[in-house]
Amino acid sequence: MAIRKIITTENPILRQKAKKVHRFDPSLQKLVDDMFETMHIAGGVGLAGPQIAQSIRVFVAEYEDHKIAVFNPEIVKAEGEEVGPEGCLSIPGYVGENIRRAAKVLIKGQDVRGKPIRVPAEGWFARIVQHEIDHLDGVLFIDRLDRPEDLREVTDEEIAEEEETAIIE
Ligand code: ZN
Repeated sequence: MAIRKIITTENPILRQKAKKVHRFDPSLQKLVDDMFETMHIAGGVGLAGPQIAQSIRVFVAEYEDHKIAVFNPEIVKAEGEEVGPEGCLSIPGYVGENIRRAAKVLIKGQDVRGKPIRVPAEGWFARIVQHEIDHLDGVLFIDRLDRPEDLREVTDEEIAEEEETAIIE
């Protein structure tokens, strides 16, 4: 495994629409392993391909007992609405408040071998999944703020508590 460099907002790759994966060759397993490792080291709960400068439709997420890697993900069902805070490994030092997301989603996509999968997600995990899928379309949480004052800098205290709050994706 290897740790990849996480790019930040000055890199235009983050704003591109990522490409669909058509060929599922064995190199994708290494990519997924690297993404999990990079995410763990960075203290995040989700990471999308574009964040490591790979403009392809894949994300990984790990939260509580959920651990998934999904290629070509699509939201097939979304229910309810919740507002909550979000951070992003590609926007270090900032948190967005009151970001609207569906409370419950069903996503479909493919696993690392190309096998079709469906993943239901609720609550915080659903928020992570929606945040990551946004990355594949070049969308960042700062685009979803209702009010500019909902973007704020994180305090040192919050950085210390990051592990517990797990808002950095
Ligand atoms: Zn992010």
